[in-house]
Amino acid sequence: MTNPSLLILPGDGIGPEVMAEVRKIIDWFGTKRDLAFDVSEGLVGGCSYDAHGTPLTDETMELAQSVDAVLLGAVGGPKYDNLDFSVKPERGLLRLRKEMDLFANLRPAQCFDALADFSSLKRDVVAGLDIMIVRELTSGIYFGEPRGIFEEGNERVGINTQRYTESEIERVARSAFELARRRGNKVCSMEKANVMESGVLWREVVQKVHDEEYPDVELSHMYADAGAMQLCRWPKQFDVIVTDNLFGDLLSDAAAMLTGSLGMLPSASLGAPMANGRPKALYEPVHGSAPDIAGQGKANPIACILSFAMALRYSFDLGDEADRLEAAVEKVLADGLRTADLLGEEGVTPVSTSEMGDAVVAALDASV
Ligand code: NAD
Repeated sequence: MTNPSLLILPGDGIGPEVMAEVRKIIDWFGTKRDLAFDVSEGLVGGCSYDAHGTPLTDETMELAQSVDAVLLGAVGGPKYDNLDFSVKPERGLLRLRKEMDLFANLRPAQCFDALADFSSLKRDVVAGLDIMIVRELTSGIYFGEPRGIFEEGNERVGINTQRYTESEIERVARSAFELARRRGNKVCSMEKANVMESGVLWREVVQKVHDEEYPDVELSHMYADAGAMQLCRWPKQFDVIVTDNLFGDLLSDAAAMLTGSLGMLPSASLGAPMANGRPKALYEPVHGSAPDIAGQGKANPIACILSFAMALRYSFDLGDEADRLEAAVEKVLADGLRTADLLGEEGVTPVSTSEMGDAVVAALDASV
C-alpha cells in the first residue's frame, strides 16, 4: 500500500516557523506510530514570487492537484505590498482554492479548557466549546453576476448578486452532514429565508438532501441574524453550522473569537471526492504571515498543528490519531505553557515557537 501524500507549502513570514513544528509532529507519527506520509514541499506566495516571478508555479499547482492533502502556512508581507495585483502573494492561495474547487470551508471553534478565560465571553459559556462552521466558499454574493458600480440617472449604483444553484447548495450540505456524522450528528443551517429567495431555495435544498440521504442526522434551520445572537448567547447548542459564503464569512470570524487567540485557529477547505474517495483538501491556519513577529521565535504553532490534526481526521481517516494530537495540545496548555500571544495569566510558562512544538511532541510521546 502506498503512503498517504502531503504537500507542504510553508509560505512567508511565520509560515516556515510554524510549519517546522508540524514537521516534527509528522516525523513523530512516522517513527512512533508507523504512519509514514510521502511529504513533498513547495513554494507559495512571496517566496515563490522571489524565486520564480509568480506566487504559484504551474508545477506546484499540478502537485497540489495530485496529492491527498495540502498543508499551507501563510502568505504575504510588506515586502510584496506594492506588487502588481496579478502577482501578489495572496493570488497563489486564491489560485489553489479556485483550481482545486474547494467549495466547503471548515472553521472549527474549539475552546481548550486552559484558555477559557481568554475569551471575551464568560468561562461557562465557552469552556468545552466544540463547533464547526461550514461556509460555502466558491459561490454566492462574492461571485454572482451582475456586479459592479453603474450609472443610473444622475447617481451611481453599486450592485452585487446573491446567486446559488441547487447543485452548489447540495454539495456543501452533503459536506456538512458527512461531518456531523463524525461529530455530534447535528446540523443547523443558517440563511435569511424570511427576506431572500436564495435563502428560501437554500432551506428547501438542505432539507431535501437531509430527508433523502441523511435522515439520521438532526437538522434545524435558523435565520442567520438569530444565529449570530445564539452564537454569542449559548454557542454550545451547536455542533455543525452550514451557511453561505457571506454569512459564513461573518459567523465564522465571530465564532473564532469565542476561543481567544488567532494563533490557535485551524481551518480546512474541502472539494469534491477524488478517485480514492478522499476530498480534495487544503489545510491552513486562519492567521496570516504576521510580519510583526516573524523570525523572532514568538509565533504560536498550534493553529498550524491543529490544521494538521484536521488533515489526519478528514483526509487520512485517522480520527483517533487526530484526537491524540489534539489531546497533546490540550495537555501542553493545561501544563501552563504559553507562546507570546497567550501570555497574561499568572503562573504560566512563556515558551518559544520551537519549545511549544517540542512540548507537543513530548506530550505525544507520553500518550503511547
Ligand atoms: P496576521 O494574521 O498575519 O496578524 C495579525 C496579528 O496577529 C499580528 O499582531 C500577529 O503578530 C498576530 N498573530 C498572527 N498569527 C499569530 C501566531 N501564530 N502566533 C502569534 N501571533 C500571531 O494578519 P495581518 O497582520 O492582517 O496580515 C499580515 C500579512 O499576512 C499580510 O500580508 C496579509 O495579506 C497576510 N495574510 C495572509 C493570510 C493567509 O495566508 N491565509 C491570512 C491573513 C493575512
